[in-house]
Amino acid sequence: MKREPIDQFAAKQSDERRTSVRLGSNACHEKRTQVLHEDYADVDLLRKLAGQIKQHTLEHLDSYLEKAEEKLRARGVKVHFALDAEAACQSVLDILQARGAKRLVKTKTMVSEEIELLPFLERHGVECFETDLGEFIVQLDADRPSHIVKPILHKNRREIARTFQQKGLGTYDDTPEVITRRAREFLRRKYLEADVGLSGANFVSAESGRLVLVTNEGNSRFCLAAPRCHIAVVGIEKLVPDDRSLSVFLNLLARSATGQRLSVYTEFICGARSADAPDGPEEMHVIFLDNGRTEVLGTEYREILRCLRCGACLNVCPVYRQASGHAYRSVYPGPVGAVLSPLLAGKRFLELADLPKASTLCGACAEVCPVDIPIPDLLVRLRNRGKQEGAPSGATPSLGGFAKLASMPIAWKAALGMGKLVDHMPRAVQPGPLRAWQGERDLPAWRGGAFRSWFRKRGKKA
Ligand code: SF4
Repeated sequence: MKREPIDQFAAKQSDERRTSVRLGSNACHEKRTQVLHEDYADVDLLRKLAGQIKQHTLEHLDSYLEKAEEKLRARGVKVHFALDAEAACQSVLDILQARGAKRLVKTKTMVSEEIELLPFLERHGVECFETDLGEFIVQLDADRPSHIVKPILHKNRREIARTFQQKGLGTYDDTPEVITRRAREFLRRKYLEADVGLSGANFVSAESGRLVLVTNEGNSRFCLAAPRCHIAVVGIEKLVPDDRSLSVFLNLLARSATGQRLSVYTEFICGARSADAPDGPEEMHVIFLDNGRTEVLGTEYREILRCLRCGACLNVCPVYRQASGHAYRSVYPGPVGAVLSPLLAGKRFLELADLPKASTLCGACAEVCPVDIPIPDLLVRLRNRGKQEGAPSGATPSLGGFAKLASMPIAWKAALGMGKLVDHMPRAVQPGPLRAWQGERDLPAWRGGAFRSWFRKRGKKA
């Protein structure tokens, strides 16, 4: 992905796109706040409890993974462990090839985006279809999701109708019901033709080995009903200790993500179909993915692994609202992405080391996080790491010079007067640090001194 600083990317967004992102994220945030505070006397207490349960699970991840594996295997589920993206993709392909499978339908899962599974399978001749409406539209458009929960938050219905027309799904019609019906008609055929259904999991209970899938469209049920084989690719941080703790997370997840009290569909998957079940896959595989997670677990950033991928921190972030998801050049956008993406990048950390700077550190993300992740602290720690490892500074000039100037009234006054010259100074003759700084940002027109003259005039009038 092209390296472009977030502020420059944000400045290029069309008004239409900016409005879609702002309205969409704001609506989710307002609903979240209303529902959580209506339903719980002390939301922070619940968030802290959820954070503690997750942190405890992470600190005992090895034993919880073993427990989950044991339970899953006891029910006939084949369990695989993948160290990285390549191994996970290869495991999926091996399962497909062993079954002679050529068609796959999948539910929404961020982890498959993270390992770039679909492009990999398509290169190996597998026909793949996203079945979540937003992800389906992203796939048709050859686009990327812009939000963890609402992948097409950046699009409006006119753009979607144009895509449907271009892809042969009917003449232009931007009525939401028509768009939905056309997607449904197209995808129903794909469910029936598919050999394999692929999903992620929102949670895995170590106690019972149950996979929990939370969706709003019911597409996951179709993916897991008709195909004969179900593959779940699951990040190892999705474990929770027991079924009882699921009640804490299920109460928080939907409310934090979309402001719903409960998602429309919550599925508890215990394994492949039993002999007397009317439908469902005859074979089930779970692939637990590491892909850099255990490395993060041993660092001072480990709290980020509590993340439920609810998107609440995106919805409230002033930077995300201006820039939208694509600005983050990675699968995970917003405040969570600004922490997680550079960490999961491993040796390519420096390529994404600018992301932690894409924050005002206002703290709103930490206030809404359902698992109480101290995101601003992690951002500051990552900024320090970037500095220590030699990440480009973005040519931010030292504040030392500014501080000196600002503390000398006469020099400051003179500088204000001279500042206007910068507006008219060709870039080539500007001082080096200023020129470098402008390589990544636009310098706003000079306004220095306006307050002083206003104040002087006001004094004269008085
Ligand atoms: S960091 Fe917290 S608020 Fe952000 S997506 Fe993860 S769980 Fe949600």
